[in-house]
Amino acid sequence: MGEDQSRGGRRARLVNFSAQAGYIFGVDIGATSVDLALADFTGGILSRTDAAANVLDGPPILLDQVKSMMLSMLEEQSIPIEKIRGIGIGVPGPVEFSTGLLISPPIMPGWEAFPIRETFNEVFAQAVVMVDNDVNVMALGELRRGKIKAENCIFIKIGTGIGAGIVCKGKIYRGNIGCAGDVGHICVDYNGPLCHCGNVGCVEAMAAGPAIAAKAMQAAKEGRSAMLLEMMNQRGRDLTARDVAEAAAKGDRPSTAIIQETGKLIGAMLSSVVNFYNPSLILIGGGVSNSGYYLLSSIRRSVLQRSLPLSTQDLRIEYNSLRGDAGIYGAIYLGLDHIFST
Ligand SMILES: [Zn+2]
Repeated sequence: MGEDQSRGGRRARLVNFSAQAGYIFGVDIGATSVDLALADFTGGILSRTDAAANVLDGPPILLDQVKSMMLSMLEEQSIPIEKIRGIGIGVPGPVEFSTGLLISPPIMPGWEAFPIRETFNEVFAQAVVMVDNDVNVMALGELRRGKIKAENCIFIKIGTGIGAGIVCKGKIYRGNIGCAGDVGHICVDYNGPLCHCGNVGCVEAMAAGPAIAAKAMQAAKEGRSAMLLEMMNQRGRDLTARDVAEAAAKGDRPSTAIIQETGKLIGAMLSSVVNFYNPSLILIGGGVSNSGYYLLSSIRRSVLQRSLPLSTQDLRIEYNSLRGDAGIYGAIYLGLDHIFST
């Protein structure tokens, strides 16, 4: 008896599935760059490119740039527009997931409630377009493509800001509207500095990239680190978190201390998350996570000190395995997953 023959009840549907039945675009929009990939239905990347792009230019200019990058990629690959069946987009701001709209994005003024999906559907009418926060997208990429993964996992991104993607029972948990995991504004010091959110002592204000850079500048100017001062003078610009990592790798003790203090603060925030959520894995990603072993070991120590023993019994804390590729793979799977679910 063939698959398509009736056994009574609903007729089985024959699905013609092949990797080349359609294609997906994954788009990872950062504050100052765009990463774009074209993938097949297995999630395999056929072509990839990136470009400088500034979210402050606003959505019409930036999204036009992305669309022309997409069209030239399709031309190069000789793939017709109507073969694009899904587009997954990660953005650095809070997203209402059901509509794909950015809501009060702090670093993306001008993007508030801009219809990103519709903008892409004007060109790619056959595509399901999905938009999500960049950290959720990175967590998804790691969950689907990473080497280290777990059913209950927290992905922490430490970059210009600090945020978390939550994996619950093997799926991204977005909360009621879409902004679950906004851990950057958990207070780690009630006498701490003012945060851009209006509160004081938020972990983002004390341990993200700009805070690390500010501490390094202070150490250089106060004469506590000759290496940082030399870097600043040689490079003729303000120091960055990357410079601090470089100085620490060369043995600069004040830089190592800044990284250890950063890890301690992030660990303090994470211990609350661990006690609350009991994950079996925490993955640390984002630009600041390229700061070497000191950061990871300080985070681990701080979490172990402050969490309940039962919460940390089977807990692993690691750097994410896909490193900078988590976002682009996550964007591909965001598009891919929703082709078959909508
Ligand atoms: Zn804050």
